[in-house]
Amino acid sequence: MILGSGTTEQKEKWLPKLASGEVLPTAVFTEPNTGSDLASIKTRAVREGDVYKVYGNKTWITHPVRADLMTLLVRTNPKETGHRGLSMLLAEKPRGDDKIPFPAKGMSGTEIEVLGYRGMKEYEIAFDGFEVKAENLLGGVEGLGFKQLMQTFESARIQTAARAIGVAQAAMEQALGYAQARVQFGVPIVSFPRVADKLAMMAAEIMTARQLTYFAAREKDSGRRCDLEAGMAKLLAARIAWANADNAVQIHGGNGFALEFPVSRILCDARILNIFEGAAEIQAQVIARRLLDGTN
Ligand SMILES: Cc1cc2nc3c(=O)[nH]c(=O)nc-3n(C[C@H](O)[C@H](O)[C@H](O)COP(=O)(O)OP(=O)(O)OC[C@H]3O[C@@H](n4cnc5c(N)ncnc54)[C@H](O)[C@@H]3O)c2cc1C
Repeated sequence: MILGSGTTEQKEKWLPKLASGEVLPTAVFTEPNTGSDLASIKTRAVREGDVYKVYGNKTWITHPVRADLMTLLVRTNPKETGHRGLSMLLAEKPRGDDKIPFPAKGMSGTEIEVLGYRGMKEYEIAFDGFEVKAENLLGGVEGLGFKQLMQTFESARIQTAARAIGVAQAAMEQALGYAQARVQFGVPIVSFPRVADKLAMMAAEIMTARQLTYFAAREKDSGRRCDLEAGMAKLLAARIAWANADNAVQIHGGNGFALEFPVSRILCDARILNIFEGAAEIQAQVIARRLLDGTN
């Protein structure tokens, strides 16, 4: 987002530190009443001298405790209820820890307990007069926040598709290993065609998702529009991750349901891929819209 829309000063200040990992970022867009329809968010940023004061609630924010920098989507113009009233702030915050998770004035949070993907740590966040330097308005112009965010969606969807492929592949590897080791009726269960066929479909579907994701990434790298391809890659890869995890649990029989076996965790982790970074229905909408407007 900074690369695409930041001022020269913002790029010079943030990009090297983000690239080296010195600065950890987090994306702060979703609100309790607004997820897919981000143009309707309500969190307000009010300009007071050389700062913005932020008021409102965000939710599902990934690793905000340890993050140093938030890309914070806010409404700077309350008269504009749609996307034109939105701006993106590069909001700096002190890093928290287990004892004091949110040391900044005007910012607090509560952890959300989740089904899977537990390494990420999700929080609901409340802002009450949290201050952001006015110079940290992305691009230096108000009202562009939604447009700036949309420009990053292609890359975000491609990387989420890639993550889904990792989960799908892990499911297949667990299933393959187990099917060779587990013996029933005197033979490894992989010798039963119904088991082997599941593995074959997993491999074939991973290949489809992987090649589509590479294709979308190459289009992106070449500077071509790829919302269609990125949407397809994300939609299919997330579905395949879930299907593979489900089949891998099936191949494990009862053991697939035991927390002790990694495949049970893969099943929980796989479920979220169809929801975040644009739910499956939203990807389908992007694809259908392109089909209907004839620009595919
Ligand atoms: C683990 C996790 C991590 C996350 N990390 C972040 C983060 O770091 N930062 C952040 O800002 N957000 C984050 N999110 C939020 C995530 O992006 C949203 O959950 C997601 O965009 C969906 O929004 P929602 O949950 O409000 O669902 P809703 O938008 O309420 O959708 C509910 C259902 O309705 C469907 N729906 C909605 N609109 C349409 C439509 N037009 N057509 C058809 N169906 C529709 C959806 O597809 C979905 O099935 C995270 C979420 C999770 C669970």
